[in-house]
This record gives sequence, C-alpha cells and structure tokens, in this order.
Amino acid sequence: MQKIGILGGMSLQSTLHYIEGLNNEISTALGGLASPRILLSSVDFAEYEPLQRSADWDLIASKLAAEAKLIEVAGADFLILATNTMHKVADQITAAINIPFIHIADATCAAIKADGLQKIGLLGTQYTMEQDFYKGKLVAAGLNVLVPAEADRKIINDVIFQELCLGIVKEESAQKYQEIIAKLQDAGAEAVILGCTEIGMLVKKATLPLYDTTEVHVKAAARLALQ
Ligand code: GLU
Repeated sequence: MQKIGILGGMSLQSTLHYIEGLNNEISTALGGLASPRILLSSVDFAEYEPLQRSADWDLIASKLAAEAKLIEVAGADFLILATNTMHKVADQITAAINIPFIHIADATCAAIKADGLQKIGLLGTQYTMEQDFYKGKLVAAGLNVLVPAEADRKIINDVIFQELCLGIVKEESAQKYQEIIAKLQDAGAEAVILGCTEIGMLVKKATLPLYDTTEVHVKAAARLALQ
C-alpha cells in the first residue's frame, strides 16, 4: 500500500473526516486489520485564516509548500491537501515537491463527468465560490458552474468559518443551506458540489445529487494508495 501524505488542519474538522474516510475506504477494501498508511502534517489554522482574509496568498503558499516538502521527505508516496480553499496555492505546492498531488477539483470534475452531468452548483468559502482558481478548473473541464447570489454566498461562508470549522452544527444553518441548494436547482443545477471539506457535516442529502469533495477526494486517495 502506498503512503498517503495529508496536508491538513484546515480546519481540524476536515482532518478528522479525511482520516475517518480513509480508514473506512481501506478497511472496506482490504478487510481484517488493514489500515491506511498516512503521513499527516496538520498546520495551525489560526495562523492561516487571517492570512486568507488579508489576501496574503504568497506567504500561505510558502508556508504550505514547506509543509508539503516535509511530508515528502518523511516518505509519503503522494500528497493530498485536505481543504478546497487552499488549492488557491496548489501550483506553488506542487512546484515544491516531486511526488504526485491529487487536486481536489480534478478529482471532483472526474466524478461529475463520469456521471455525465454538466450544469453544477458550487458551494464553498467565498474564495472558492468567487475566485477563478477553483471554478476555472471546472469550467476548463467543460462544466457549467452556478454559484449562489452574493447574500447567499455570505451565509454559506459565515457558517463555514463561524460554525463548521469550530465543530458547531446548527439545524437552522442546515435549513438555510437547503434553501440555497433549492435555488441552485431552480436555476438549472443538475447537482451541487459541496466544495468545502466541512459542509458534509451539515448537509447529508438534498433534492438533487451532491458531490461531497471530502468523500470524492478520500476515495481518489484510497484508490491511488491501493494501486
Ligand atoms: N476546509 C475548507 C475548504 O474546504 C475551508 C477552510 C479553509 O479556508 O481552508 O475550503
């Protein structure tokens, strides 16, 4: 089995779901006492979140690239970055390492395209919903991407940072997310990407198919680990 490198801690909730997901995938695939080989570097998200707000992406890139290098030197066979938003600096991270990197948006695109869907809603942090580093990849893969209106993007983003990243799951927030998902469906979305690795804590199902990026990414990593 290949050793999975995880660059995590963004947020700590996300790390938990990755480890749990990888445990499930590998134990289901191999049975018995099998467990995934994992090399994790978990950063302190309290250092990074203010840098996102101040758009200090170069500093974020150099810090995460250094962490990625540590994981490579420790012996990981490939790397995953356990957050959608930080893929904003994926190019700088991959430039720093020589092991393969599974980009979360590529894995998600592949899953959507395999299902033959084309018009897709996207939920995530404001960075993910509004900037090109993520949507651009989906569009380049031929998908038509719908994001919520500005006021709804703010609700989605605030719930991520003020609740989900802190481990808080509120019924009223789940209701708001469902209303926003319904608006995307009314606008023609055939499915919705849960493009933030904590949203799966709040939204488990909806009236249209969901692509939970944590699940998709974990499955892609488990497949590669078992190759
Ligand atoms: N885990 C989140 C994501 O998937 C948000 C935390 C972050 O900003 O990295 O985008």
